[in-house]
Amino acid sequence: MEISLVNLSNALITRRVSCASVYQAASVAGLCCPVCGAAQEDELQVLRPCKHLACCYDQEAQQFTFKSDDFKQRLATTKISLTDELNAQVLAQLGYEDELLALELTRAGCWSRELFAFNFNVS
Ligand SMILES: [Zn+2]
Repeated sequence: MEISLVNLSNALITRRVSCASVYQAASVAGLCCPVCGAAQEDELQVLRPCKHLACCYDQEAQQFTFKSDDFKQRLATTKISLTDELNAQVLAQLGYEDELLALELTRAGCWSRELFAFNFNVS
């Protein structure tokens, strides 16, 4: 059986979103935006998203705590139904590629994991 090299390489070149796990030893410290450095939470741990944050997703509760307008639009047009954890594969299905960096945050003394996705191409 002959496998076409063209088809094979096409299958391997998929859209890629980078995802990294981040652990913060200080439970009260908020995550900072990797693009502009702005803290995403105030001192009361209330979400204060900068313009680069595409979404924030609670992996345990399996729900979004923040969605940017652009992200909402992409979700609506792709009709992806999220029934599980949000990951790089799902984000890639929304048309994001290398411009998006997803950080999955775990804090000391806290069971929850939150996924923050930052868009580097928001001007
Ligand atoms: Zn920012």
